[in-house]
Amino acid sequence: MLDCLIVGGGVIGLSLAWELARRGRRVRVIDRGEPGREASWAGAGILPPASSSHAVHPLDQLRALSYELQPRWSAMLREETGIDDGYRRTGGIYVARRPGETASLAAMAEFWREEGIAVERLSPESLAELEPALAAVRAAYLLPDEAQLRNPRRLKALIAACQSRGVEVTAGCEAESFDIAGAQVRGVRAGEVIEAGQVCICSGAWTRRLLDQLHLPSGIEPIRGQMVMFRTERPILQRIVNEGPRYLVPRDDGRLLAGSTVEEAGFDRRTTEEGIAGLIRFAIDLAPALADAEIERTWAGLRPGTFDGLPYLGRAPGLENVFIAAGHFRSGLHLSAATAVEMARLICSEPNQIDLSPFHIGRRRDFD
Ligand SMILES: Cc1cc2nc3c(=O)[nH]c(=O)nc-3n(C[C@H](O)[C@H](O)[C@H](O)COP(=O)(O)OP(=O)(O)OC[C@H]3O[C@@H](n4cnc5c(N)ncnc54)[C@H](O)[C@@H]3O)c2cc1C
Repeated sequence: MLDCLIVGGGVIGLSLAWELARRGRRVRVIDRGEPGREASWAGAGILPPASSSHAVHPLDQLRALSYELQPRWSAMLREETGIDDGYRRTGGIYVARRPGETASLAAMAEFWREEGIAVERLSPESLAELEPALAAVRAAYLLPDEAQLRNPRRLKALIAACQSRGVEVTAGCEAESFDIAGAQVRGVRAGEVIEAGQVCICSGAWTRRLLDQLHLPSGIEPIRGQMVMFRTERPILQRIVNEGPRYLVPRDDGRLLAGSTVEEAGFDRRTTEEGIAGLIRFAIDLAPALADAEIERTWAGLRPGTFDGLPYLGRAPGLENVFIAAGHFRSGLHLSAATAVEMARLICSEPNQIDLSPFHIGRRRDFD
């Protein structure tokens, strides 16, 4: 019998599967569609800097641990699979173009400093020297430690690494319900009944449907994010550029992502004319050279948003062998490594390095 069945083959499920397989567990991942093709594929792969020395809240500790682990994971995955997932510490620039945004950004910069994150205020001259393609802005800060990875490559590497360690990764296999006996789930109904010693639900924006089956409350909702991919002959930016909730992410082959919208649109992951036009306008305003660039592709993905912004990580209340790791909203790529390590510890009955209690499954909205 399997030690652990993982429901959902996004970055969270695949990272956990790899971590468990590295600990010698027999693991299977099932996905209702193609593994690694939903939110995890759609994301931009921004890994914001985080500092472990100042992290007090468990979410900050999760961020800091992930930030430390990501370059190591990238190197280990490359060694195991030969796939370069594009992890690069390119640095990030945060800009503001309106007076109100300038004040918020100055407050953010103060917060970063207090958190022990390297941050440097840029003069207009130094900004123009670092990123000559950027339009004039009111304020700019450099975070030299911001990093990025290429989601489709990380997912490909995770799938290959899982498979080479004996993890069965099954596409087109949807978990529909659970066979429950007392405080144990004996099997997961997914066409066939799949038996496993333990089950971990990592089904992203769709998690609420499965938690309803287990009569567990969840505040997970799909939050759509649209994206535009430009293609230029040579990279026009070297660093990630962030403005409020939107950003430009240059890849080293001349591709450049402009993202993203934050929308409640149910489970509809189509792009909209308005959403894409808004992102194109934003991108060209900020980097005018993009007006001549080809638009190679547009897409949208469904982020798993939670009502309080914290992911759900832990054991399902009332069930001894069911675990949940979902609801990472805008940070799932970034948090995937630490989530996998901490969830693997929990599943393997090892002590957690990070207190997972703020992420517990039973928490409710105040206004329910
Ligand atoms: C436009 C956009 C930009 C983003 N940018 C960033 C970023 O820069 N940095 C960052 O860290 N994060 C970013 N994110 C967020 C990040 O992509 C998500 O937080 C993360 O991908 C969530 O991973 P997941 O594995 O939980 O979900 P998913 O990748 O959605 O995977 C869940 C999987 O579960 C499967 N599934 C669902 N129900 C079932 C079922 N019943 N049975 C079997 N399988 C099931 C689905 O088919 C899916 O493959 C972005 C997201 C979007 C959409």
